[in-house]
Amino acid sequence: MDQNAGFLALNAGSSSLKVALFPATGDEPLVTGQAERIGPEGTMKLRDAEGNALPLAEGDLTSHAGALAVVIATVKQAFPDLTMAAVGHRVVHGGLDFSQPVLVDENILRKLSELEPFAPLHQPHNIAGIRAAMAAFPGVPQVACFDTAFHRGQPFVNDTFAIPHRYYEAGVRRYGFHGLSYDYVTGELERIAPHLMAGRVVVAHLGNGASMCAIYKGKSVASSMGFSALDGLPMGTRCGQIDPGVLLYMLDREGMDTAQIRQVLYNESGLRGLSNDMRTLEAADNAASHRAIDYFVFRVQRELDALAAVMGGVDALVFCGGIGENSRVIRRRVCERLGWMGIEIDHGRNAENATILSSEFSRTTVMIVNTREDLVIARAARAAAGITEGTRA
Ligand code: ADP
Repeated sequence: MDQNAGFLALNAGSSSLKVALFPATGDEPLVTGQAERIGPEGTMKLRDAEGNALPLAEGDLTSHAGALAVVIATVKQAFPDLTMAAVGHRVVHGGLDFSQPVLVDENILRKLSELEPFAPLHQPHNIAGIRAAMAAFPGVPQVACFDTAFHRGQPFVNDTFAIPHRYYEAGVRRYGFHGLSYDYVTGELERIAPHLMAGRVVVAHLGNGASMCAIYKGKSVASSMGFSALDGLPMGTRCGQIDPGVLLYMLDREGMDTAQIRQVLYNESGLRGLSNDMRTLEAADNAASHRAIDYFVFRVQRELDALAAVMGGVDALVFCGGIGENSRVIRRRVCERLGWMGIEIDHGRNAENATILSSEFSRTTVMIVNTREDLVIARAARAAAGITEGTRA
């Protein structure tokens, strides 16, 4: 294997491009960072493995292609001998067809474009990222890694809505998202606690985007996110589960159009709608911050109960994502009244963000796994280049 081979993991959002450059082997990236506010006010930060800022190459950050060009030129300066062997991309929607990462060609790109109506805020940007990388690295394998793939084997009852069946046939289904994170956590559990992975696991991916997944014997059997990345838990700015009657009210009574409703549901709701971002909420001590945290905790508890019921119990509860990995308060509050389902955390371990949080009396193991979507993508890219290092992707 070429020791100078590099593997790029890209995650292109509406105005951001997250990057992680990996060497031929190992879990630690050579470079991480992101471009933000891509456009006239675009900024970028790239760091090396020691966390030092890399001096950026010249370039323009007004487009994804421009941002990627800056990444490539900066990497060339820092690692002149490195050759890009494959590029992996986070793609939010794989529809019905993709339950594994796939090598991208024009035919696949066409299929991914057809899924844009299912994820209008994410899919076009993911595709733009792939196109930019194809142009920058002609002939280098491009691999699409799907957030929906992990959930494609879910049973019908968790895949459908109770609306006319033709919608199901047309692809209006509960896809579930955050699959790359669940894939990573599942792989980690298999490695560090295979006896738990053989049983009933609930993973709570609590970040800006948040969802929960019931994993039985390593397979997703139910998840809180549904047709879009709006469903389930309240998020940083997204509403989470909502009665569709509220949308009818917005349409009929307030005369809102779909763009306005989309703006409210995706950008002005969730923790922001109720009050503020989680870190700000925890620092604040006022009625609005209490309400927002109370609502978040309530919904996580409710979802946990529901997912545990689907599996007839739960052997392990795993927290991940920015809130799950860092917020002692949220973890404590979520677990506080779950003694009836055999959950009890050790407050000292929780305060230390330890890997195992459960007390010796807990029937359910409670853990933190620091999720690594970038690594899942890089492993898929390595696999595409013929390097198989125990990847699940
Ligand atoms: P994304 O879904 O964008 O990847 P992250 O997984 O990085 O998001 O999670 C971001 C969320 O994590 C934000 O709501 C942020 O406030 C929260 N968060 C990060 N660190 C902490 C902390 N120490 N305490 C509480 N919340 C935190």
